[in-house]
Amino acid sequence: MTSRRQFIQACIPLSAALVLSSCKTAEAPIPTEAASHFKATGATVIDAAEKTVKLHIKCPRCGYTTEMEIEKPTADKPYSKEWKCPRCGCRVKITVEVEK
Ligand SMILES: [Zn+2]
Repeated sequence: MTSRRQFIQACIPLSAALVLSSCKTAEAPIPTEAASHFKATGATVIDAAEKTVKLHIKCPRCGYTTEMEIEKPTADKPYSKEWKCPRCGCRVKITVEVEK
């Protein structure tokens, strides 16, 4: 019985450390409430306006980060485009769709 409790206690500092380290490496701005209506792969939606959506892109190879605005995707017309890193040339497929 006690061994299980000890196991759980041992796990807590580890998961806390993981959260801290992921916060340190994440440079993406905190997404706004409007951005939460979109689901993206290859990028992070950080803001959404009436007609545009703002994306935060981080190159998986060299870590280059940039922001760009795209035309707002709709439920039947998701955004899909290949982004090329200007620093290392890495290609990233970016898709943004409306969260259902
Ligand atoms: Zn790159």
